[in-house]
Amino acid sequence: MSETTQHHRACHLCEAICGLTIETRDEQIVSIKGDAQDSFSRGHICPKAVALQDIQNDPDRLRHPMRRVGNEWQAIEWDEAFALVAERLAEIRKRHGNNAVAVYQGNPSVHNYGLMTHSNYFLGQLKTCNRFSATSVDQLPHHLTSLMMYGHGLLIPIPDIDHTDFMLILGGNPLASNGSIMTVPDVEKRLKAVQARGG
Ligand code: SF4
Repeated sequence: MSETTQHHRACHLCEAICGLTIETRDEQIVSIKGDAQDSFSRGHICPKAVALQDIQNDPDRLRHPMRRVGNEWQAIEWDEAFALVAERLAEIRKRHGNNAVAVYQGNPSVHNYGLMTHSNYFLGQLKTCNRFSATSVDQLPHHLTSLMMYGHGLLIPIPDIDHTDFMLILGGNPLASNGSIMTVPDVEKRLKAVQARGG
């Protein structure tokens, strides 16, 4: 049996960016664990990251573009898919206006360099007002407050949870959101530490 290889990566599923240790043998994932040497997440991992291998190895995972023809799905080449999307998007916008196109971006799209650096240019070209994302579901008020108070929607104050003595949380549940926006992996331990030091 061939040797296993260890890879150190950051989980990009949510904003806690936990360090992961991934063991592979050939092309197969053998295990995914929290990386105890990651000074930020200190070995923390949640079930979503452990389940990444299920996505990677899922036999139903899409590995090439599919085109619906009647009730059937047919695999097509990337060039054909891009040409088809460009043709149909242009046609739909011409016939029904820019807002006939809607976009939804999931949470991990802001943890992916390609999407983070390029999707805004592409989406800007679509000129649609119908843009939805994990942000529009749960954090736009946060951005609006920052825009009104500090002049930019992304100037978001981050609580220094590891050094605070008094933490007041209004309308949020960091245990459910994994400390999202605060970027605090293992938020449960960090919250308990506030109390442990007398907070
Ligand atoms: S909390 Fe879970 S999903 Fe979020 S970065 Fe850590 S392991 Fe990934």
